[in-house]
Amino acid sequence: MAKKFSLAENIAKLLRANKRLERQLEMIKNLSNALREGVFIIDSAGKILFANNYALQTLFCGREIDNIFKMVPPLEPFVAGALKSGEFSEGEFEATYPENKILRASVVPISDGLKHHSTISLVLNDITAQKYKAQERIENEKIASVLKLASGIAHEIGNPLNSINIHLQVSRRTLSKMADCPERSKIDSSLETCTEEIARLKNIVENFLKALRPPKPDFAETDPLSPLADTLKLLEEELKNRRIAIDIKTDSATPSILGDKNLLNKLYFNLIKNAMEAMPEGGHIEIKASFDDTTVKISIADNGCGISQEQMSHMFEPYYTTKSNGNGLGMMIVENIVKSHGGEINVKSKEGSGTTILLTFPRKDKQMRALEGGAKEQ
Ligand code: ADP
Ligand code: MG
Repeated sequence: MAKKFSLAENIAKLLRANKRLERQLEMIKNLSNALREGVFIIDSAGKILFANNYALQTLFCGREIDNIFKMVPPLEPFVAGALKSGEFSEGEFEATYPENKILRASVVPISDGLKHHSTISLVLNDITAQKYKAQERIENEKIASVLKLASGIAHEIGNPLNSINIHLQVSRRTLSKMADCPERSKIDSSLETCTEEIARLKNIVENFLKALRPPKPDFAETDPLSPLADTLKLLEEELKNRRIAIDIKTDSATPSILGDKNLLNKLYFNLIKNAMEAMPEGGHIEIKASFDDTTVKISIADNGCGISQEQMSHMFEPYYTTKSNGNGLGMMIVENIVKSHGGEINVKSKEGSGTTILLTFPRKDKQMRALEGGAKEQ
């Protein structure tokens, strides 16, 4: 026969069960707060019944939110669809407030045991960085294939250009012998213009090919600052005329790298020129060198016009320029040289305040490995 409990015993049992439930609820809360994704329980109108710390503090930057549909409006029809089907659904959505984010949402309707789904479990993952990385990779691949195509065409254009040039020379010589030609000077002037234009075209094609395929570096143990000193010497007069001050803060013992002095000269020349052009009214360039166990870092900071985030995303593309007389090849050349040295280039800029270019080169002993690795990949 089942044991009968007194009222006091029943109350004690209920209290113990309640304590157990409280402990379990606490555990579930702790677990959900340990997750690196936003966990919500919402009702069918988007009202938030529960949200973990990550959801409130990180995903929505500590903003007071009571309804998830207000934060991510496209979730509303998606959740309605999931409720109707009663099944797990997954999708990607854009949130614009408080920050632009791309979120992956997983929605599971929670049954109340009566075949109704009145609450929904919603998990939001911030996949913004992943998306941008993937987009950047696709962009880089696109640029690389377009450049390959363009370099093939540029190469092919070289031969007919040479041939046209030779024929122009022959025509001009023939014309010079035709003393009785009434329109001689007019034709000669036209042929001269054609010759000049051909020379211009050849120059464009050659510069493009040179920028695309920089010469193979001739590596030697190099003080990374010495080509910079050479470049500053070369530009000394121009810097003075433009009222640009140079401030060099270096560690006396900057370790050496494996570098090609001529290519490094070219790299610094392009960077200093850009900094100068960003400061038409004069200004200040600060150069700093530092190092750690594996790398040497050189930063070149100007207090010029700076560049917007949008412009910055294009600055390494060939022919991208914001200057009326720019050719848009400088930063591509710079990037190619840095990469050929197994290094990295990073840009920080604020419109109206200035730009800092940070170059990171492997120290000589580490560089051998980086370059060997690079050579194998090609
Ligand atoms: P160009 O100098 O011929 O325009 P680059 O490839 O050297 O071509 O530079 C591309 C673009 O990057 C420039 O037109 C400019 O908008 C931007 N840029 C590069 N360096 C700087 C800098 N130090 N400050 C501001 N903008 C810069
Ligand atoms: Mg330039």
